[in-house]
Amino acid sequence: MEVISGIHEIDTTAARSYLVVGDELTLIDTGLAGNTGKIINYVKNELKRDPTDIKLIIITHHHFDHIGSLDKLKKLTEAKVAVHKDDVDYVSGRKSQIGPAFFKFMVKVFKIVSHYQPVEPDIIMEDGDKIGEYQVIHTPGHTKGSICLYNPQNKTLFVGDNLKYVNGKLEGPGARLLPEPEKYKESMEKLARLDIEVIFCGHSKPITSHASQKLGEYLKTL
Ligand SMILES: [Zn+2]
Ligand SMILES: [Zn+2]
Repeated sequence: MEVISGIHEIDTTAARSYLVVGDELTLIDTGLAGNTGKIINYVKNELKRDPTDIKLIIITHHHFDHIGSLDKLKKLTEAKVAVHKDDVDYVSGRKSQIGPAFFKFMVKVFKIVSHYQPVEPDIIMEDGDKIGEYQVIHTPGHTKGSICLYNPQNKTLFVGDNLKYVNGKLEGPGARLLPEPEKYKESMEKLARLDIEVIFCGHSKPITSHASQKLGEYLKTL
């Protein structure tokens, strides 16, 4: 569904994916494995566009619930794939996913059931880079290469797993999924300096107005 003008959300099992619609389409995250058909059908049936109009796939971080359908989507669309430099080795398969024991277990199960094929990114992002209409903001904490994407024109921010919006409040990923809490705090302080109206979260509904205010309230709890 279209959340705000030109930005569509697709519920891709566990995590959410977003499509930024312009002359070209940009996909942000891909959800778990098995979502390729859902994304392709959305582009064809809802947007009446060709899947090869997806020219760019930006990955917010390397976790399996965000890159699960990446290999198949890249093959079908021939889109360029962008990943932050500190998460590249996990997406490309050179390093195995790290994290708490529970997370490692989930990754193992995921690999067995999904046959995830590693993907070699085309674009390696760094803090401050511009990609499409978005500024790359490096926000380590949840993973080393987690990023947010900020568009100062329409004041939208994509946060991946950094934040979720529950019962009218912003929350973090939770202690079990924050291997580097100090870095995370710094990352959130970095976001708080931006003028943000809308926040798109990886695992919850978005905030569609006055997002900076909500972020300020959340920061006080850290
Ligand atoms: Zn994650
Ligand atoms: Zn996630």
